[in-house]
Amino acid sequence: MILRHRSKPLPLQLIDAAIPRLPQHSKFLTELKKDAKIRQQGYNGEIKVDYFIDSLAPKYTILHDVYLRENGRNFQIDSLVIADHSIFIVDSKNYTGSITFNTILKQLTRNDGKVESGYEYPITQVENQSFHMQNWLVQHKVTGIPIYGYVAIADPSTIIKVEGNEQEIAEVVGHGATIPKMIMDKDGAMGRTGKEKLQAYQIGKIILRECREFNINMFKHYGMRPTDILPGVICPECKLLGMSRVHSSWECKRCGCHSRTAHLNALSDYFLLVNDLISNSECMRFLGLNSRHAVSRILKNSNLIYYPHVRKWGKPEN
Ligand SMILES: [Zn+2]
Repeated sequence: MILRHRSKPLPLQLIDAAIPRLPQHSKFLTELKKDAKIRQQGYNGEIKVDYFIDSLAPKYTILHDVYLRENGRNFQIDSLVIADHSIFIVDSKNYTGSITFNTILKQLTRNDGKVESGYEYPITQVENQSFHMQNWLVQHKVTGIPIYGYVAIADPSTIIKVEGNEQEIAEVVGHGATIPKMIMDKDGAMGRTGKEKLQAYQIGKIILRECREFNINMFKHYGMRPTDILPGVICPECKLLGMSRVHSSWECKRCGCHSRTAHLNALSDYFLLVNDLISNSECMRFLGLNSRHAVSRILKNSNLIYYPHVRKWGKPEN
């Protein structure tokens, strides 16, 4: 069963919400757009690999996007599969072109047809993740479970090459579609050694309880200020910032589109980028409205919770 599903990573949510809210000539746009592209590519790769990993759900316990703290340090695992006799860590990599693992230099290079670039060696990454996971489990009184790490190449058209020991790479690296069988074969072999069956669901629950959400402090990270974020309602059709309120609806001056709910996205952006709570006057500013009444009505109808002690509205707790 799948105990934890993947959702769009918070840093990507933040960046995607910030980009349309920066002035057109903002010096931050180039870097944000570049990072959004890289993060989106990684996320797309993870989703592609999840599709294959999830085929193991009837047999094994699966947790996606596991983010834990061990010994004062955080570590992140793309997918964790708790099988009958062992635990598997799967790290997704989304590259285009061809990639070369050099087993002697412990180096990964990618060639996209134009440029050759170097990357952190994925095998070392999964080894470190396995090490952290093992320590974390011991701290939570779960001991004696073998952990194996795999690197899943998300794009089936990526060509995998090896310099050095090909067998070494073949044992731990494969395209997404091949990973479930690698896991089943390995776990089956463990079973034949007479190892006792794991309490997979219980172990999964312990991990799930301690899972955190990975995030970045976007303003600190990019050196931006909260005042760089422009207020206003974004047109759902042409993405222009600054829809006008006309009768109980929003109207776009550029494309003429009407929407009754466009402010809901603006409120989501506010909660992501500005603050967890919003007051009536902050909402007037952010939505660009000067009627206290209209804003009250909007806040009451936006599925938010009112906190009387601070006189602000916030999202309901999950
Ligand atoms: Zn528009």
